[in-house]
Amino acid sequence: MRLGIPKESASGEHRVALVPETIGRLGEGVDVVVEPGAGDAASFSDEAYREAGASIGDPWSAEVVAKVAPPSAEEAARLHEGQVLIAFLQPLTDAEGIERLSRAGVHAFALESVPRITRAQPMDALSSQATVSGYKAALIAADRLPRFFPMLMTAAGTIPPAKVLVLGAGVAGLQAIATARRLGAVVSGFDVRPAVREQVESLGATFLDLGVQGEETEGGYARELTPEQRAAQQAELQARIPQFDAVITTAAIPGRPAPTLVTAEAVRAMRPGSVIVDLAAETGGNCELTEPGQEIDAGGVTIVGTTNVPSTMPTHASQLLSRNVASLLGLLVADGNVALDWDDEVVAGTCVTRKAEVPA
Ligand code: NAD
Repeated sequence: MRLGIPKESASGEHRVALVPETIGRLGEGVDVVVEPGAGDAASFSDEAYREAGASIGDPWSAEVVAKVAPPSAEEAARLHEGQVLIAFLQPLTDAEGIERLSRAGVHAFALESVPRITRAQPMDALSSQATVSGYKAALIAADRLPRFFPMLMTAAGTIPPAKVLVLGAGVAGLQAIATARRLGAVVSGFDVRPAVREQVESLGATFLDLGVQGEETEGGYARELTPEQRAAQQAELQARIPQFDAVITTAAIPGRPAPTLVTAEAVRAMRPGSVIVDLAAETGGNCELTEPGQEIDAGGVTIVGTTNVPSTMPTHASQLLSRNVASLLGLLVADGNVALDWDDEVVAGTCVTRKAEVPA
């Protein structure tokens, strides 16, 4: 069986779906074909792929194609019936892209749809990439803040530590809390899922009690708040946010626009020099003033709306993603052949389009 690894074509996408290190872990009977230059932006050369046993060539005719971003219309046109595709396919928001793959009869596996059960953890690419985003968000906040994160006692006097608030304490939020703590900031965290309080506190942060509590779905995600809960949360945050030097927001509801947590009024109340890093920028932002893909100055407050943050750390983001892809592939391939077991809840749950099967 051949596994094709295309060079990503989406603007700003520096990751690659498979890194040389993973090739040796794919098992017997899997030949890897990598498009020339596919790993360049993530610091993996064609030479490194060759040394790991891959060939450099056209990845699109392989039985399985693994990539990062959803295929463009031109790329999708190169796929054929019965082929397996693994990628972030945005199944809840990109209906047109999914329809295209469905028409082509491709067995498409969306990395976002891997069920969040213990057995599937090694395949959980949302978590691996959120870890990168959370870490980087804390570094961006520290970099943009015109103050120190840690407390410093110097001959020139004592500098108090920065106060950082992390809103949304899922995988990215918890990593942002841990990283900001390591840098010496005093950190508070908040999430609508009640189970999170303990996790926030175990990282040495304070749980901000806003008196708003949401619900958790079976998959461990937050349910959207009611309009009353949303209003109560915004009002509570409005009062608390001006006490913080940096606010990192990560709140998300799968398939829905990001909830507004930081209103324009709350930004106006922040001290000049304060920083907001909005990891939800891609789905509209948790801050009302965020401009996705931009870094802006709003009355002296820096608002960072960088999108695709994992791609800003492409080497390790790709390495983690590559291990997720290899683990998923392990479920889709047996003895060097594609073998799709639709009774497996991870295989069935991750698949978003499949070739129509003719009844026997
Ligand atoms: P996510 O990216 O969908 O959302 C980020 C966070 O935003 C979540 O914690 C969510 O509760 C929070 N949020 C939503 N609306 C909010 C609001 N109005 N105010 C404040 N916070 C809000 O979530 P995620 O990071 O992908 O993870 C969600 C859950 O899934 C976590 O509990 C995580 O531990 C769990 N998980 C489980 C597994 C597993 O295998 N069992 C694997 C990965 C993640």
